[in-house]
Amino acid sequence: MTKEEAKKLLHNPKTSYSRHKGIEKTAEDYCIGYKSFINDAKTERDAVRYAIDTATKNGFTPFSSKKAYKAGDKIYYNNRNKSIILAVAGVNAEAGANIIASHIDAPRIDLKQRALYEDSGISFFKTHYYGGIKKYQWSALPLALHGVIIKKDGTPLDICIGEDENDPVFYISDLMPHIGKDQFDRKLGEGILGEELNIINGSMPFEDDEDESVKLNILRILNEKYDITELDLINAELTAVPSQKTRDVGFDRSMIAAYAHDDRVCAYPSMTALFGLDKTPESTAVIILADKEEIGSYGVTGLTSDVLRHFLMDICVSRSVSYTNFIRNSTCMSADVGGAYDPTFSSAYEAKNSAYLAKGVVVTKYTGSRGKGGSSDASAELFGKITRCFDAAEVDWQTGEYGKVDQGGAGTVASEIAMMNIDVIDVGVPILSMHSPVELASKVDIYTMHLASAAFFALK
Ligand code: MN
Ligand code: MN
Repeated sequence: MTKEEAKKLLHNPKTSYSRHKGIEKTAEDYCIGYKSFINDAKTERDAVRYAIDTATKNGFTPFSSKKAYKAGDKIYYNNRNKSIILAVAGVNAEAGANIIASHIDAPRIDLKQRALYEDSGISFFKTHYYGGIKKYQWSALPLALHGVIIKKDGTPLDICIGEDENDPVFYISDLMPHIGKDQFDRKLGEGILGEELNIINGSMPFEDDEDESVKLNILRILNEKYDITELDLINAELTAVPSQKTRDVGFDRSMIAAYAHDDRVCAYPSMTALFGLDKTPESTAVIILADKEEIGSYGVTGLTSDVLRHFLMDICVSRSVSYTNFIRNSTCMSADVGGAYDPTFSSAYEAKNSAYLAKGVVVTKYTGSRGKGGSSDASAELFGKITRCFDAAEVDWQTGEYGKVDQGGAGTVASEIAMMNIDVIDVGVPILSMHSPVELASKVDIYTMHLASAAFFALK
């Protein structure tokens, strides 16, 4: 057998660098926009603001259930400032929708409702972490505070402190190793306990060293700056996220280190693909940037809510087509990150069925844990349809699942989409150090996710 004949029989995907000569230059340019997005939009509220701004510049208008929509119309539906659906009405109203569902929430440290307290001359926030984190990774880091406070008269006060280089930041302390004997004996998962994730926010007393005078001084500063009191901090949603900006990684600058690639690394390409449509697609193109994925998609801004269903129903009413027929013709790409193979921790992976950096988007048939539990297992038919679509558009793809069997697992919004009777498959960017304060992704994979999203909108 010749080498060429053997090549035809075997399937050994190469890196995008060797499959598409020069792709690193295009990827580099593409990632300039991505880096600016993730530096600007660290929470779901920030990401929704970004999406509305950018959509408006691209001719999108807010959805109204009273309007009749026609092919080519560009609309968005803002779900409570925490999630958003954007759509371009397709040429064929009955052809269903090609939907890309990603999420814009990410693991972080939320403030409790009664957060502010003082202990031993230091002012702190009590917190309750959000999402699946290794808690010990979140101490001894500069943190920024993001969120909203609803004032007594109902007006929202947006908070963002710690992102400008002249801003102060916040900080969770860790015990020095010198006296860490007892802590070193803890298990890794207990290195820092949930109730030890206390955020330091001040240390200067108000006038005298009275009880709570440091806390009082913080309240004085907040009152002067924002006209708020301790009570207002309860009517609020405040969260701490790593304050660092993205950085290129490696002598070759081939990767990006950033907070919360998961899942903005799929949300951003879904936006650039939608905004970049050069002609009205045959099927309606829809993207949803969901909230609450990291805590099970529950809540009105998560995908267990009826928000996407109702939006599509309204679109069908406005275009006078049957919702159930529309849904039957629809397909969804659940766009979420995959775990990239990490040779340093190889024993957690099964190398043959892992995704690798720089080999393109990872198409995942099933997620779940302990025998695929909780997973939406995509059919072979759908897997074939998606990979044919990617091949036709020369989109580099690979397969991979989360680690070796019974090592753990993960979930995505695929199961929520499947409940709507929509064919759904997971496609995403492979990530290293997922859910840590600084995750790692390959630039060519991020760009390939854009190509995959664009190809998906043309899926028939
Ligand atoms: Mn995710
Ligand atoms: Mn995640």
